[in-house]
Amino acid sequence: MSTNEQNKFEFKAEIRQLLDILVHSLYTSREIFLRELVSNASDALDKLRFESLKGSEYANPELPLEIKITFDEKQNILTIADTGIGMTREELISNIGTIAKSGSSDFVKKLTEAKEDASNIIGKFGVGFYSVFMVAKEVNITTRSYKKDAVAIKWSSDGLGEYTLADVADDTPRGTTIEIHLKDDASEFAKQYRLEQIIKTHSNFISFPIYLESQKVNTVAALWCEPKSKITQEQYDEFYKFLSYDNSSPADSIHVSVDAPIQFNALLFIPQKNMDIFGFHKEEHGLDLYVRRVLIQHKNQDLLPEYLGFVKGIVDSEDLPLNISRETLQENAVFTKISKAVTSQVYSHLAKKAKENPDKYAEFWKEHAKVFKMGYGDFENKDKFVELLRFNSSLNEDEKGLTSLEEYKEKMRDGQKEIYYIFGPSRSAIEFDPLLEIFKRKGIPILYLTDPVDEFVLSSIRNYKDLEFCPANTKDTEKIEKFDDINEVSSQFEKLSNDDELQFGSLLAKMKEILGDAVLEVKESNRLTNSAICLVNQDDNFSATFQRIMRMANKDMGAPKKILLVNRNNKLVRNLISIFKTDSNSEYLKNMIIQLHEIAQLTEGDLVDPHALANRLLHYFEDSSDWFVTK
Ligand code: ADP
Ligand code: MG
Repeated sequence: MSTNEQNKFEFKAEIRQLLDILVHSLYTSREIFLRELVSNASDALDKLRFESLKGSEYANPELPLEIKITFDEKQNILTIADTGIGMTREELISNIGTIAKSGSSDFVKKLTEAKEDASNIIGKFGVGFYSVFMVAKEVNITTRSYKKDAVAIKWSSDGLGEYTLADVADDTPRGTTIEIHLKDDASEFAKQYRLEQIIKTHSNFISFPIYLESQKVNTVAALWCEPKSKITQEQYDEFYKFLSYDNSSPADSIHVSVDAPIQFNALLFIPQKNMDIFGFHKEEHGLDLYVRRVLIQHKNQDLLPEYLGFVKGIVDSEDLPLNISRETLQENAVFTKISKAVTSQVYSHLAKKAKENPDKYAEFWKEHAKVFKMGYGDFENKDKFVELLRFNSSLNEDEKGLTSLEEYKEKMRDGQKEIYYIFGPSRSAIEFDPLLEIFKRKGIPILYLTDPVDEFVLSSIRNYKDLEFCPANTKDTEKIEKFDDINEVSSQFEKLSNDDELQFGSLLAKMKEILGDAVLEVKESNRLTNSAICLVNQDDNFSATFQRIMRMANKDMGAPKKILLVNRNNKLVRNLISIFKTDSNSEYLKNMIIQLHEIAQLTEGDLVDPHALANRLLHYFEDSSDWFVTK
């Protein structure tokens, strides 16, 4: 190809869409384009340093690793140059011409809806480069790859739909230079004071020197290596914001310096808010790994387990070899020890917070519990994990309260060997559940589980200290009934006569006959205080949980079969006995029994199809409305 020949290319559709939004809709925080370009330059320098540590050959080894920003106020041009890894022609086409990451078109859609959040999210989704078109009417990238024989190449675009590629002079040095012709309304970005201010705000902690017109403007200090006593909270906050692109300060900053047996420093942060903004799980978890202040890997995922992925930060060690490859990290014994130590630092921080500042811990729980609870499979840390769990429970006054397992244990009744829990869609739904009645009567505390994952958590941890977890719908109530009533019930029901006693027995048999295979058994029970009936499980294991999850996934699965318990001291049940005595084949009786069973299924979240129930209810209302009509 001759030096002057130009090749035209079209942007992919999703990029055109993105550019359209960036150019036409986003006017706030336009300055973040500079943060994005500087962070790309810094990444390119990191990659080059990594190659050199591996001993690779590369072009222009004499060039220092740095970023140079220059501007021409008269012509409204801003230039950002780095001596990093550069790009070959193919890399340029694939890195700058497409959005590589999956789900990007979803992202573009969301970006349209969330205009003002743009500064927070642009960088996270790997579309940082394009933000330059918020301020540029023309961009020229000149780049030469570090590979010895790579040719230099120039990319140009006005951001409207096409870009061109052309070869350039062979003496172009290694690295990338981005020349931005600013829009008329973006001339502020060709001014010394403004550029300095932006770099200080967003790029102060870049670990390579940034020169603005040959003057170094960033601090270039590894904050984590400074003595803790010298660091202010503002500096921690600033570093966190730099690292995470979060606009708010972190909820917690954890600075760890360990010298023996292995040396490492860690600077860890817990964000105030769960950062998975759209629930995309696009935000990759991980900590930046440094060896002797050199960045070895962005977002290393093995330093912390995934369920502690809400933690942001960096880890730096002197005891790892500088040229360690990312592939062999996991097998490195020193690395494994560091990751264990970092994990236990996070645990002890959380434990301390839970103990010393329960309100703050509750805020943490509200934001990050969803991720944290996934730690139920980490058996190595089980003892610490269980102490950090929180549930709403009967010990709390409202749905906002939280109970730890330790508090439960303290408040339970003497001689209690189980921790009871009940599952439901919300606290108010649970409070209607007849299964709760016996716990209220006996003053036995009970955990209210409203997140389906809670049952998985309890099923995998199995026990807390010497206490087993037991669902409220257990069929073995002796363990509960052995406690005396704390809240007395004044029964206004007379004892059944001998004849009624017999009739009641036959009614139960009749109920089983009518319900057939829909129930396993129909039995009398005195676990209920007010309600007519309730449903309990055949086994106490967690099969019911799995059945529920299966049903949520696959609507065709029928309702689970349970045992129906009947309370003789209930007005409706007493009336049913009378009706049964008069006409054991009464149509009304039959319908009422089916209706009662379906209502119990509804309460337990087991009802597959509510149509029949709704229809029957309407008929009852139609009939009963007659009572109120004066004829
Ligand atoms: P991200 O940085 O999240 O990958 P960007 O849109 O900012 O997304 O950049 C896209 C890609 O373009 C980068 O991953 C990198 O491969 C390449 N790139 C951008 N700027 C440079 C640069 N200054 N030097 C080398 N490569 C670069
Ligand atoms: Mg980038």
